[in-house]
Amino acid sequence: MTGTPSGRLALAHVAKLHAYTPGIQPAEPGWVKLNTNECPYPPSPKVVEAIKRELGADGAALRLYPDPRSGPLRAAVARMHGLDPARVCIGNGSDDILNLLVRCFCGPEATAALTLPGYSLYPVLVGIQDGSSTSVQLDRSMRLPVDAIAASGARVFFLTSPNAPTGVGFPNTDIEKILDGFGGIVVVDEAYAPFARENAVALLDRHPNLVVVRTLSKAYALAGIRIGYALADIEVIGLIDKVRDSYNVSRLSQAAALAALGDPDYYRGVVEKIKTTRDYYSVSWRTERGWFTFPSETNFICTEPRDSKGRTGLGVAKAAYDFLFSRKVLVRHFPSDALTASCLRITVGSDDEMLVLDDTLDAWLKAPPNA
Ligand code: PMP
Repeated sequence: MTGTPSGRLALAHVAKLHAYTPGIQPAEPGWVKLNTNECPYPPSPKVVEAIKRELGADGAALRLYPDPRSGPLRAAVARMHGLDPARVCIGNGSDDILNLLVRCFCGPEATAALTLPGYSLYPVLVGIQDGSSTSVQLDRSMRLPVDAIAASGARVFFLTSPNAPTGVGFPNTDIEKILDGFGGIVVVDEAYAPFARENAVALLDRHPNLVVVRTLSKAYALAGIRIGYALADIEVIGLIDKVRDSYNVSRLSQAAALAALGDPDYYRGVVEKIKTTRDYYSVSWRTERGWFTFPSETNFICTEPRDSKGRTGLGVAKAAYDFLFSRKVLVRHFPSDALTASCLRITVGSDDEMLVLDDTLDAWLKAPPNA
């Protein structure tokens, strides 16, 4: 406990929290930014038009609160997924949705279950609610330990599918076994589903304990606009609506997201381009560099760098990270998880960015050790 008055007054579980560590967002230009899985291409031109339209000449609309339920956006999302709008809730990013779900289903008497690795925000959110979590460790096979999850006795299970930071997708057949065998809510965080072969939306009709969470931050190039959503049973949506801020999504964000969803052809092109680049570099690093590389169904690649002496491991990954950083190429290293400590997670960038990255990896291999 700290000596400041606020430190003394804080709830004990809040005082000892470790905050989530987001990827670096450098303020100065000149970085090749491949660390937070943003889209390398701009959003649809229709998004910019919609924001300008919403602002008008003098920004007068900003005097007014936004639609508290993001009604038209709920309807558009529902239409896109072939669902009733009552089964959709819009959030200020999907982090907002995840936070609301934790507030509904986690606390001192309600445990959460997670996989390791997985999106590292979940245990932080659970900690904010003074809840605890049990975790199941994944290995390189990336097979879901279905029985261990079903037997966890948790109130809610958070599954990042496709997984982060490995990028590996989980089959619906396994997700369905968990939906059938696990007594709690199953949250499938599909932040990267637009880049995947399969997704869990079709399972919603048969499984009222399923919540699918999506974001417009990745495939829709709108990380700065902060839009995510939940697809779930009407009852779950009702619970989320009870705990969310009444105006949780800004006017500009609602307008931007509606315009983005209205331009599917543009985004099909963006997603196809990212998948092509991803598959090219995954194959190249696996076969030409001889680096173990997880099969990715996302907009990033998790690869295990091998140094000029053929060594791998946490130290090698850290050395590669530091070398890239020194050349202003930002990627991500997750040293605390056993499965990914020896790997780097690299966002799929534009062709130019990927060339700079690949050349810098070559330079690292040619540099004297620790250079
Ligand atoms: N889920 C996963 C698995 C993610 O990687 C991210 C991005 N860090 C999010 C959710 C949050 O996305 P956003 O809040 O931008 O919608």
